[in-house]
Amino acid sequence: MPYLVRENLFIGNISDAAEILQNGSTDITHMLSVLSSASISFFSEWRSGLTIPAKEIKKVYGGGSDGSASEEDLGDGSKGCLSPDKLVYLLEYAGKDLKLVRMAVPIRDMESENLLDYLDVCIDFIDRGRKEGSVLVHCFAGVSRSAAIITAYLMRTEQLPVEDAIESLKQSCEFVCPNDGFLDQLKMFEEMSFKVDRRNLIYKRFHLKVLGDSYNRGEKIDSSKFGADPGVPSDVSCDVEASPNAGKKGIPAYRCKKCRRVVALQEHVVDHIAGEGETSFGWYKRTSGNPFKKSDDSECSSIFVEPLRWMTAVEEGAMEGKLSCAHCEARLGYFNWSGIQCSCGSWITPAFQLHKSRVDISYV
Ligand SMILES: [Zn+2]
Ligand SMILES: [Zn+2]
Repeated sequence: MPYLVRENLFIGNISDAAEILQNGSTDITHMLSVLSSASISFFSEWRSGLTIPAKEIKKVYGGGSDGSASEEDLGDGSKGCLSPDKLVYLLEYAGKDLKLVRMAVPIRDMESENLLDYLDVCIDFIDRGRKEGSVLVHCFAGVSRSAAIITAYLMRTEQLPVEDAIESLKQSCEFVCPNDGFLDQLKMFEEMSFKVDRRNLIYKRFHLKVLGDSYNRGEKIDSSKFGADPGVPSDVSCDVEASPNAGKKGIPAYRCKKCRRVVALQEHVVDHIAGEGETSFGWYKRTSGNPFKKSDDSECSSIFVEPLRWMTAVEEGAMEGKLSCAHCEARLGYFNWSGIQCSCGSWITPAFQLHKSRVDISYV
């Protein structure tokens, strides 16, 4: 049986979901299914071919560049800010007598899984469900994934730190236990004031780590996972509109010194603190063992950015290589999935580095 968490909000496991899909429910009107993408085929074929009725399936993308979800067909011909790797399915009519509204979100119960990018779309769905009826959030066991999403929901709606939200959830369902990777991400969610803010340094570092982990697992890194190319105006229209600086004094941009093509915007920069890092041994050594005294030569000679769509060399799959301007092919920097040490001593991992001597800053 699903557990009641708040008025019109339940947590459950896959048996609870199956029961409701097959027999209907007097309470539940909305169902959020958090399952591996393989199990999501459970939408149309469930256990030895028994079909769950459903129609009007919409594809919805979580993790839009402004942090919102967007539907595939926006109706006005615009392509929206879609990230194809963050696809979720919204079924307007599902289950017995087609009475349920259901959403399926592909998340595995693994510490390395990217939960943050799905939080907005899940929280919005829970909001909608509670307004229109009652929501069941379920995963396979009802312990980690569904608990992580409900925790995020309680954090945002009740402004609770992650520990308090989990404690409160345990009052309803004592065995909930999001995995450690989800807990780290919920902590980041708290530090970003319960928003998934893609311009926040916390998010950028997290996103780089997700990419690095996925590279290390041998997964193909294609440009759909990269940031928009600021040198292609249509590619960044969403970012520009959503930018708090839009219409004011312009957005700081880095241009290739040789041909002036825009190669990065300020929002793509992943800042680091000069001399700090996981293993900044070089810097400690240079300042004669005093880590608190910053030497004058510690100023960074490079900026580090997230991988961007013009970095075709990165897509080829090498561990490291040159980054050349997409227009004039001038060498702008270097990338290395296992990290690069900045001139200040910090290690940035993975690193997509632009030499300050090869780029100019201006405003677009
Ligand atoms: Zn530096
Ligand atoms: Zn150039």
